[in-house]
Amino acid sequence: MLSVEQALVAINKTVIPVSATRLPLNEVAGLPLAEPIVATVDSPPFDKSLMDGFAVRSCDIDRVGVELDLLERLTAGEVPSVSLSAGKTVQVMTGTQLPAGTDAVVKIEDVSGAESNRIRVEIAGIAPGRNMLHQGESLQAGETVLEAGTLLRFAQIRLLAELGVAEVSIFRRPEVSILATGNELVPVDQTPGPGQIRNSNESMLIAQIENANAKAVPLGIARDEVDELRAKILQGLESDFLILSGGVSAGVLDLVPKILQEVGVRQVFHKVQLKPGKPVWFGQYSREDGKQSYVFGLPGNPVSALVCFELFVREALSCFQGGKKRDDFLQTAFLQQAHLVKSDRPVYYPTEISFSEGKIWAKPVRWVGSADIRGTSRANGMICFPAGEKSYQPGDEVQIRFWHTEL
Ligand code: AMP
Ligand code: MG
Repeated sequence: MLSVEQALVAINKTVIPVSATRLPLNEVAGLPLAEPIVATVDSPPFDKSLMDGFAVRSCDIDRVGVELDLLERLTAGEVPSVSLSAGKTVQVMTGTQLPAGTDAVVKIEDVSGAESNRIRVEIAGIAPGRNMLHQGESLQAGETVLEAGTLLRFAQIRLLAELGVAEVSIFRRPEVSILATGNELVPVDQTPGPGQIRNSNESMLIAQIENANAKAVPLGIARDEVDELRAKILQGLESDFLILSGGVSAGVLDLVPKILQEVGVRQVFHKVQLKPGKPVWFGQYSREDGKQSYVFGLPGNPVSALVCFELFVREALSCFQGGKKRDDFLQTAFLQQAHLVKSDRPVYYPTEISFSEGKIWAKPVRWVGSADIRGTSRANGMICFPAGEKSYQPGDEVQIRFWHTEL
């Protein structure tokens, strides 16, 4: 049986990154950049005022009460027609291009007689560069401003917009089909009959998929019946990824691995040393259109499905999108309460993680096992305990992993 680390290596080896696509700038939020971006312009493109005020030569302001002759008044978008010489000033607004010779801007609040043609500066001095930006001070043409692989969020998108990059080369969102399996399942909006439960995994997986910047395609419920499973699996294999929940363990009706292999999905691994989630299945399928699909069979237990998604599916989705290796896999935190671990496999334990006093704190939630979704709903991450028997004490260092990461 593979360890978690070996399973992640297998996923990295199997999942081939999708080729880059070009999309309009307004459609790339949340997607990774497929090429580095080199600035073609300076920012700001000209010496620019950061305040409403008066452009000055800082050497002129050598005492309180200096008077300056006003040459012109400019608003943003207007271009100076003069340059500054000794004793002169130009009125500017935030964003105005500054006249040549300017090396500081005095705020309008620090001036009297602003309406007249001779203003009086009420401060004793001003440092060169104050309240202005020089051309290219933020970035210069020719500089690489974003590396390939950077996740495009609002700030990066604004940068691309300023550089005039109207179309961006990105790795597109993978499409992920979800198929819940189980005779006991009914849709969320129905009342379960005797022995039945709601298909809660589907809604959770949709949320996880969307959080991982992928597109979820729910296929509903398949009964534990060969023909129905086969038909829905074939439908799911038209997506980049197919995630099944349930039917991969050792029960009489756990038919999923056998059907996957029958339809031609190559098994990469089945079972990983972890708790919860040991029965997890992963495979790869070469489609007739020459593209690849990747299949995860997640155990049906909601917590197992959640943990396996965060550990394995998220990694695979990231590989598909050209994935830089995650370096946030584990972080060190301090345990907030005593905790006993007794397991032959590493345990991924739902945990409330918080920050205070410059440290990360981890508080294992009250939890009665992999079917306990109520306990898990208090958690925002997990502690990764090594296998073995150990009585952890408050303050002990543990390794944690956040869920729903925004990184
Ligand atoms: P299985 O992996 O099919 O043996 O299922 C393990 C446990 O998870 C059983 O108690 C199932 O009833 C439950 N389960 C399976 N699929 C789902 C689902 N989609 N939503 C909620 N619980 C499920
Ligand atoms: Mg089942």
